[in-house]
Amino acid sequence: MSPSFQIERASGKARAGRLITPHGEIETPVFMPVGTLGSVKGVPQDTLEELGAQIILGNTYHLYLRPGVDTVRRMGGLHRFMSWPRAILTDSGGFQVFSLNELRKVTEDGVAFRSHLDGSSHFFSPENATEAQIGLGADTIMAFDECTEYPADRDRVRASMELTLRWAERCRKYFGEHKHEVPWNQLPVARTQLPVHGNTTDWQLTTENRQLLFGIVQGGMDRALRKESAERTIEIDLPGYAIGGLSVGEPRALTREIVEFTLEHLPADQPRYLMGVGTPEEIVEYASLGVDMMDCVLPTRAARHGLLFTSEGKISIKQARYAQDQNPLDANCGCRVCQRYSRAYLRHLYASNEVLAQVLNTIHNLSFYLDTMRRVRHSISLGEVRFPF
Ligand SMILES: [Zn+2]
Repeated sequence: MSPSFQIERASGKARAGRLITPHGEIETPVFMPVGTLGSVKGVPQDTLEELGAQIILGNTYHLYLRPGVDTVRRMGGLHRFMSWPRAILTDSGGFQVFSLNELRKVTEDGVAFRSHLDGSSHFFSPENATEAQIGLGADTIMAFDECTEYPADRDRVRASMELTLRWAERCRKYFGEHKHEVPWNQLPVARTQLPVHGNTTDWQLTTENRQLLFGIVQGGMDRALRKESAERTIEIDLPGYAIGGLSVGEPRALTREIVEFTLEHLPADQPRYLMGVGTPEEIVEYASLGVDMMDCVLPTRAARHGLLFTSEGKISIKQARYAQDQNPLDANCGCRVCQRYSRAYLRHLYASNEVLAQVLNTIHNLSFYLDTMRRVRHSISLGEVRFPF
């Protein structure tokens, strides 16, 4: 059992637990809103707190380019810089540079890539991607991996998986030697108000509190390689494991099959993080299979395009049929948007290209996702195996 993770209730394959981080305890399964550049686009931090976001995600690739790791480190780390007292997870940059396609070159040592901003040349290795994540100071950080493309033949998938394993060893070694350099350790007193078990408790960061480095299982769509990747990543001995290399263009049914299979080979008593997934239905389903942590740009990105998730399905608010609709967006949603505004007004804001449209749409979609996961946790706590939504 990891000291940073406790399972409190299991129901079928699903588990309700707690991930203990230097910036508070997180109830799992948890959905993590994506805050690429130190901002969940359109939503102020106090609103994120009100929505019940327990942990948000930052992208190392983007923060490394802008404003730069040194700047964030000098500002006391990402929590202080963006004034977010709760937990943060950073990705390693591996998936982001993978997405650059023409702009990257992979070698044993790491990945050379060009910035999507100005074309300047950069290099990520397991060591400096870990150094960057220590400098940003997220609570949970990720091993630098190669996200295998899809489709890929078996030799290619194996070679990529082996590279990720060698890189994970290098990340662990670098992290072991440098973890004390996290910016919170340089602060004389780091006090913050955090809700623990529903009460606001005065909580102090100490040098006992360390970042958690998670490994990433690769292996493409090949079951035998997924199993081997899981087993050999576990041998590296890390406090949590992620399933990577999915949602890269494969059919959804295959994603689910690989997730379910891979989960069987991950330790039952450690946190399991499924990266970059999914729709509201998918996050419920993956929680039911035993995933503890998920993140996805879908609720925030879709919101900015006027696509809203409701208890009765998706709504495209731009449609003329909502022009005089006095109903709330979702009559079953308790969020501040649904409590206050009509579909007609939201449609008007969107059609007029008002900035407020993006803000309100994002608040609702995040609220819908976070509420969905709250209900999943409640169902697990009641011992229900099949979730009623
Ligand atoms: Zn709402």
